[in-house]
Amino acid sequence: GQLQDKIAVITGAGSGIGKATALLFAKEGAKVTVSDINETHGNEVVELIKNNGGEAIFVKANSASPEDNERLVKETVEKFGALHISVNNAGIGGESNKVEDMSVEGWEKVIAINLSGVFFGMKFQIPAMLKAGKGSIINIASILGQAGFANSAGYVAAKHGVVGLTKTAAWEHGPENIRVNAIGPGFIYTGMVNEETMGKEAINHLESKHAFGRLGTPEEIAAMCLFLASDSASFVTGSYYAVDGGYLAV
Ligand code: NAD
Repeated sequence: GQLQDKIAVITGAGSGIGKATALLFAKEGAKVTVSDINETHGNEVVELIKNNGGEAIFVKANSASPEDNERLVKETVEKFGALHISVNNAGIGGESNKVEDMSVEGWEKVIAINLSGVFFGMKFQIPAMLKAGKGSIINIASILGQAGFANSAGYVAAKHGVVGLTKTAAWEHGPENIRVNAIGPGFIYTGMVNEETMGKEAINHLESKHAFGRLGTPEEIAAMCLFLASDSASFVTGSYYAVDGGYLAV
């Protein structure tokens, strides 16, 4: 496999993009720490990996908690011996309101989970990767890390912030061979985005904003995670990769 004997942490891996990435990484030979705030879903993903002959553990962690992020890395290194790859993917959609109507709590929650979560993740992952002698960090941003979107100020600000954090950490650790990149998915069918959570009309409208006239799948994002995690991406750092079916091609 492309990730043979590599050790990876994936946050928000109980569902959607994180789940697809965990399954693909394990299939490619990585030992995977599946992390999520949802214990049931996280353990289901670990079982799936083990049933396919892979290696994985579950560590419950809230991305908005510095202590949880520290423990996540500690338990991974205790179990598997090192850390080479992280996918900082945990996130929520957040409150839907115009700026003037957005609650302070709604703003603070999405910033804590989607932006501070990526900072806390990298803060504790980087020292472990320095010990390992190399690393690849993949931060899941969004098309909304490059463009605005009405009624989503906190989410859009958090995702733009993730892109800036990514570029900065790339400069800080280039010489030590830690690569740091961001992925910008278009709208992807997941627990966050589907007919039930958003309604059929909204989904149809979103589909029309992609050149393919459809939403993406979690597996299509996992494929880019695999490339960035692998040695094929040895000269790639500080970049934002759109995997968005043409959404940003305006
Ligand atoms: P999802 O809801 O299917 O998965 C998100 C996972 O994160 C869930 O398992 C959830 O339990 C977990 N999670 C939520 N809050 C958490 C917290 N505080 N700590 C730890 N885990 C937490 O959604 P998804 O679409 O797979 O989302 C994954 C990432 O992709 C998010 O960062 C999201 O912003 C981003 N993204 C999604 C889309 C899309 O259209 N679905 C588009 C662009 C970017």
